Amino acid sequence: MSGPLSRCANSPTPDAWEPEATTIAKARRVGEDAIGACGWCPVRAECLEREMRAGVLGTDRDQRIRAGFTGGELRQMRALWLAGTSVLDLLWPIDEDGPTRGGARGSGA
Ligand code: SF4
Repeated sequence: MSGPLSRCANSPTPDAWEPEATTIAKARRVGEDAIGACGWCPVRAECLEREMRAGVLGTDRDQRIRAGFTGGELRQMRALWLAGTSVLDLLWPIDEDGPTRGGARGSGA
């Protein structure tokens, strides 16, 4: 996502958002720095909304990082979004311990 506030667009290492990985788990390891930067990006919610609306999500061989999630995770999340889950709930889901920042669904291999 471009724009003056996006951390990826202003990063000296933009390739960090395009990790070479064929699995979610590897993308999360390789893209750890990008995922961390997304967590502090002021346009993260807009970024995730854009990804959900665009529907142009990662394939198994495309694990780019957007809004702190890998392409595979975004694909999984889009099903929830299409079923009515809001972007904010995807970013900060509520579990039995209360709100959880990050919304990681990254248990996939
Ligand atoms: S949330 Fe991440 S991918 Fe999205 S604009 Fe911000 S830094 Fe870039």
